[in-house]
Amino acid sequence: MSDQQVNRSTQSTTTNSGVTHQVRVGVLGFGGLGQAAARVLAPKNEMLWVAAADKKGYAYDSAGLDPDRCMATYNSQGSLGYLDPVGTLSNRAIADLIEKANVDGYFLALPNLPNTFMASVARQFIESGWRGVLVDALKRTSAVEQLLAMKDELQAAGITYMAGCGATPGLLTAAAALAAQSYAEIHSVKITFGVGIANWEAYRATIREDIAHLPGYDVERATQMSDAEVEALLDQTNGILTLENMEHADDLMLELAGICERDRVTVGGVVDTRNPKKPLSTNVKITGRTFEGKISTHTFTLGDETSMAANVCGPAFGYLKAGVSLHQRGIYGLFTAAEVMPQFVK
Ligand code: NAD
Repeated sequence: MSDQQVNRSTQSTTTNSGVTHQVRVGVLGFGGLGQAAARVLAPKNEMLWVAAADKKGYAYDSAGLDPDRCMATYNSQGSLGYLDPVGTLSNRAIADLIEKANVDGYFLALPNLPNTFMASVARQFIESGWRGVLVDALKRTSAVEQLLAMKDELQAAGITYMAGCGATPGLLTAAAALAAQSYAEIHSVKITFGVGIANWEAYRATIREDIAHLPGYDVERATQMSDAEVEALLDQTNGILTLENMEHADDLMLELAGICERDRVTVGGVVDTRNPKKPLSTNVKITGRTFEGKISTHTFTLGDETSMAANVCGPAFGYLKAGVSLHQRGIYGLFTAAEVMPQFVK
């Protein structure tokens, strides 16, 4: 652990949201997004990264984990369980970590494969008696619907669950909810994303879940594909995945927030798995009618230099902070990125 981390772990912070101590954060899943999350948290004073789990083990240090050491161990040995002396190998890493660690909020950077996996993790938290804040970056409408059905149980368990808090759904859905305020009626919300990554292995779950949206594929088929089969598919398309009319929870989230009916929301995009440069600029276009009867379109475009990881992990922790302030006020249950403002984490 670096000196900087030792110092940070003893700090206590009062924030503009009324959050009165440094938030102890755990990250479940230590692949592409989980590792980026650790790096995003490293310079923050209001949050301290203390716990992480992968499929084969977990690491927990109440004084703070070192992202470089964690990444070196995970990427060379395949699990945080090998991290000396704070790692533990386990084939029930999430359950063990929930039991052992003192954590205020978790970012669930886990694959949602099968499509019921995240809901099963939420159930594990409920059944364990743990209380705190959970944040996910779920994508599919049907996956968020499963959590919605657990709203009352989450509330009774004292869990504040923030769903769909990545980039899309997440940042772009929230931007649509904000842009909608200029209009008396919303006609369409059109999200188009461009993602560039140097190699698909850095984000295996993300790419498998995207393949599941291609014509002729579904979640089950994409889950069962071997790495060699994924590579063969990407070879055929020169590494490019073009996605249209995706089943994305932005639609459900905007409907729940009272912005528009879900059939007015469309999501598609292009993913280049062989080039970190974005194939197109990610944007959301919100078209509506003003009270004067004018039809207009607001466009919110992300900077091309911002990576998928920056646009997912930044909002995820912004919503974690917002979730902590709700939790501290005794407000539990399920919230989405379209109904709560994220708070900036310092
Ligand atoms: P990844 O494949 O790179 O990593 C997954 C990690 O989860 C690995 O560390 C693996 O060991 C761990 N894991 C798997 N099963 C586990 C288990 N049972 N217990 C504990 N750990 C387990 O994944 P990724 O590409 O970083 O994607 C993570 C999720 O983020 C995906 O569901 C993806 O769709 C989602 N995502 C959302 C957005 C958005 O904007 N909303 C954008 C990108 C990715």
